[in-house]
Parts: sequence; structure tokens; C-alpha cells
Amino acid sequence: MKIVDKNGQQVQTLTAAERTLAEGFAEGSLGGVQVLQANQWLLRVRAQGHWLACDCQPGAVPIMNVALNGSTGTLFLKINPGTPEHASDCVFIKGSREPGAAAPGDTDEPPAAWLAPDAVLKLISEFRDPSSGVGSGGSPAARREQQRLLSLLLTVIEAAGLNVYATHLKTSLTEQFAALRAVATRYPLVDRVPASNYLETRIDMKHMMMLKSRLKDSSVFGNQRRYGLLLDCVERVAGRKVFNERSRDGFDFQGHHLLWGGTHASGPLLALAIYSTTTRGSQFYEMIHVATVPVLSRAQLFPVFRDEEREALKTLVALIDWMASKGVKVTLRRPVIGGKVMDQLILSSDLDRVLSVSLTQQPLGPEPSSETFKRLADFKSIETFGKYVTGFFMRGRS
Ligand SMILES: [Zn+2]
Repeated sequence: MKIVDKNGQQVQTLTAAERTLAEGFAEGSLGGVQVLQANQWLLRVRAQGHWLACDCQPGAVPIMNVALNGSTGTLFLKINPGTPEHASDCVFIKGSREPGAAAPGDTDEPPAAWLAPDAVLKLISEFRDPSSGVGSGGSPAARREQQRLLSLLLTVIEAAGLNVYATHLKTSLTEQFAALRAVATRYPLVDRVPASNYLETRIDMKHMMMLKSRLKDSSVFGNQRRYGLLLDCVERVAGRKVFNERSRDGFDFQGHHLLWGGTHASGPLLALAIYSTTTRGSQFYEMIHVATVPVLSRAQLFPVFRDEEREALKTLVALIDWMASKGVKVTLRRPVIGGKVMDQLILSSDLDRVLSVSLTQQPLGPEPSSETFKRLADFKSIETFGKYVTGFFMRGRS
């Protein structure tokens, strides 16, 4: 059993004591102080944005994330969709699916899943035979295919580390896009064609024309449908148009708009679009589906779950910068994949203090009962909330 990062790279193998805790946790055989220890250890793995790789099978690595059950507020180990199953006698097979969650395929709109690197994305289906008729764009299979675009956007956000804010880790917008492009090298559009080869990080006429000419001249797609990706920070998506500062009229798209968390939010938004033709042999390329995740600002592509978080999130970032100026390094992390309760933010410092917070007004599910979870709405004001957060991390430090 190993702790791995989001690229599958090993961080450490578990110590014997950690392994005992993890196995006992999975079996439900722990008691007393061990339950607390296991929860603290799992919370730390989660706060670091790491996963657990199981070694129960030779040649296959089931990957688990530390998820929060939205109904009970308790932690559990959940297998990442798209990774191999555990061996049938593995202790971690138990409870590897969220209690009460629908089995895969039961729902039309599964939550966004982590997409494993080096597996073919195939984000768009082949052209349909015109005689088979139209109108299947809303079928469950088509919805799942579109959902993969949102999953890809969230996966690259995680893998590029954009869901982490810390003053000492702050990077420029150029560096953030470079990190996104670097992650895209690990994701093939079709067999052996890295997404980064057909990715433009600007949505405007010039970059669309560049992408179109590369797609048109490409031989790597063989008989498969040619497609590329457009990624950019945009102002808004309205109707079937994407608006950014590069065009007042917006850019049309033909398919669906996939929203993180299913609700519209104000911009800026990080948008990922599929760029292809709609009919076989056509030379007319256009944006097909668009997935968006709201981000904090045009300079900081940190994901925002709900509009109501924006102001408080800016305050939190300012507090983190202030604490850094006093020598206390606090890291803010938002897990965007692997759970249903996406309003949670995890603050940690030097890994010995961990505080989960939510900036939304209403709980999305029953609250975690833990002493280390706080909701902004339970404080008198953002100022008193800020005082609590700085006190939590600074008390006894200086
Ligand atoms: Zn296993």
C-alpha cells in the first residue's frame, strides 16, 4: 500500500502502523483512540491531495481517494472510477463505494470522475450514419460522453495543482496554463495522440484557425473523427455562445454546456471545449460541447463552487497571504474530484493543523460533526470567521 500523488507517482509506502490503521478503518474493526487516529491520518492524506494505491493485485493498481460521505459526514475510502478493482479478498473492497450511492450506470449524470492518465479519452463519438436518424444527443450514453469533458477539465485542474492556493506556491497565469498544458501531454485524444498536440489555450478566431489547419492536415487520427480542445478563461457562457474579452459577439458552440455542480455561476470561468466538425468530410470546424468551472480571478484559476463563495474566498486568500507574511504557511486546497460535497475547503499548515471550512450559506448535506469543520454562515461576520481561522493557525506559534 502506497500514498501516491494525482499523477500516480509514489509519495511514500505506508508504515506498518499506518497500514494497520488503514486496514482496521476499512474493516471497521478499530475502537476508541484508534478511530480518531485513523480519521486524522486520512484527513491528512486528503489535505495533501494524495491518494492510496492498493497492492492487492499483481500488475494492477486500484487507487482510492479519501472521500467524505455527504449523508453522514464521515470519511470513507472510495475506489477511483476508471482504476482496476481490488482483489476479491482485499480488505479495501468493503465499502469502496459511497454508502447509499447509486451503482455506476444507474444515474444519467454521474458526478465528475477522475480520468486516469495515459488512457484514451475519446471525448467525442464517431459520426452517426445519417440513415439512423438524429436526436440521440440526450441519450444516457451521449450524456456520459459529454460528462467526460467536465471530468477531464476537473482532472487537469487537480493534476496541475490549480485547486491549491498557498502564498509560497503562487504562480503566474502563464505558469498555470503551462501546468495545464503539461498535464494534457498525459491524456491521449485517440490512441497515441496527446491532447497537448491539439490544444489551444486561447478561444479566438486566430487560434481556432490554427487548430483547424492542424486538424485538417493531420494524419494521426486515421479513420477516426478528428477533434481538438480549446481551453481559456472566459467571462460567461450564455445560450450557445462563449463570451470573452476577445469578441463582443461571442463564439458559437453546437452542443451542451456542462456545469460543475450543475448550477450557473458568474465568471471568470475556465472553459474547455471540444473542437470538431459535425458531419463526416466537412471542412467546417466549430466548438461542440463546452465544460466550465468558475475560477477565483483571471490571475488565479482556483476553482469556485458557488458564486456566494467568491467574496469570502478572496478574504481567505488575503488572510493566507497575511499569515505567510507572519511566517505561518497555510495551504488552501479544494478537492474537486471524488466526493459529492464540493463546498468543502481544506486549510492546513505544516500538516499538523487541519481545518475544513465551507463558505456556502446552506449545507449541501448533513455537516461533519468534527471539531475541525467550520461553516462561515455560523459566524457573526466574515471578520469573526477570519479571526477564528488566523487564531486556529497562529495560536502558540510566535
Ligand atoms: Zn485492494
